[in-house]
Amino acid sequence: MVDSIRSSLPPIYSHLFDAFFDRPKIVEPRATCEKCAMCDHGQASPVAMEFFNSETKCCTFWPILPNYLVGAILADPSPEMAEGKRRLEAIIDKRVGVTAWHVTRPRKMSLLMGGYSEVFGRAKSLLCPFYDASNPAGTCSIWRHREVICMTYYCKYEGGVRGYEYWTALKDYLVHVQRALAQNAARSVDSNVVEPKLKPGTLTLEDMEDLPPKASDYASWWGPWVGREKEFYLKCHEWVQRVSPKDFAKNVDQTKEGAASLRALIAKYELLQSKTLPNSLIRNARMKEVHVGDKVVVTSYHRFDSFALDKDLFEVVGLLKADQTLEENLARLKRDEGIELAPELIEYLFAAGVLVEPAKPKAAADGVAPDVAADLRARRAALGAVIDARGIEVDEATRGKIAEADAAKLETWIKRAAVARSIDEVVND
Ligand code: SF4
Ligand code: SF4
Repeated sequence: MVDSIRSSLPPIYSHLFDAFFDRPKIVEPRATCEKCAMCDHGQASPVAMEFFNSETKCCTFWPILPNYLVGAILADPSPEMAEGKRRLEAIIDKRVGVTAWHVTRPRKMSLLMGGYSEVFGRAKSLLCPFYDASNPAGTCSIWRHREVICMTYYCKYEGGVRGYEYWTALKDYLVHVQRALAQNAARSVDSNVVEPKLKPGTLTLEDMEDLPPKASDYASWWGPWVGREKEFYLKCHEWVQRVSPKDFAKNVDQTKEGAASLRALIAKYELLQSKTLPNSLIRNARMKEVHVGDKVVVTSYHRFDSFALDKDLFEVVGLLKADQTLEENLARLKRDEGIELAPELIEYLFAAGVLVEPAKPKAAADGVAPDVAADLRARRAALGAVIDARGIEVDEATRGKIAEADAAKLETWIKRAAVARSIDEVVND
């Protein structure tokens, strides 16, 4: 029997979550964490790869642990939590990032993480304090009670773009849950504790020097809990354990934000499971492409999930037209080009974000028939996206030409842009 979503989440949520969470969990076998799919194992690759550091994997991230999960770790008597608990207690004793709502990253680290996308997975200086490198697989020392980002991050998705959207929707829902529970727990344990309001993007001398906050500031936040923070976190955990499913539904799931995010989550799950295709599909004009010999390496919806397509296939899917249904497109390719695309291949290319639904027409432009205006806008947007993806510079005069071009010309330019290296190769006849 397949495990449920509920069983894959930290145990604190088990008694609280809606019946939706009893559905089968989504498994991501392509994210092979023990033998990290993003690290260099000598695997073949058509282009040079920026592998993750095997000493960090994707854990170049400092989690923000809500108070009740901090309490869950501290209260967990199991031997596998001992190391995580020891590390967490050391952070709490240091008083850096220790507040009534969370045990969070140092503010200096938050600033660094604001611009670290290029070194994600590689910078050892950003390694999570709970990452345990003492075993060859590199594991998380607080896994059972991990927070929302760590619960929902994957580098690769079996269901492709729809998988990515599902995990993003789960993250959005859990962010809402974490916030609501942490704030209510802190308030219920002691309504006089104060969450520090520090100006984002600024650092105090203490932040800069990796020191605890000034004793007077810390005391003004924590009051009588100074030195008893662990007891506070344990009480927050106990409080959440006592929340009834009815109260949780009323105060979390049925709030405006909670209802919207739960609805969106269920919709994304069902879409992922349904595997139904849109009525019409075209090649994604927003993919990044690298042409290498007879392969095209594409990056569609996720920067860590690039893959190589045969150039012939890449060009064939470029023949799909936005104004035809998928059925009509496939029949035309078979009739005119003698090419048959198997349904499984179409499904795979759609999941991978190589094929996407054409943009829906927007409102009418003055003086131009609505469908014509929408079509021109869509074609200009597609051309712009291909040009951007290929890193081609566009001068002002060419921008004017693009703004004036009709549908046929834009279509020709889109095709040329897919293989061009300069704007001249696109627009000069
Ligand atoms: S999710 Fe992280 S640890 Fe797992 S395979 Fe991907 S990068 Fe590696
Ligand atoms: S808490 Fe665990 S999963 Fe999350 S970043 Fe740290 S080591 Fe990785």
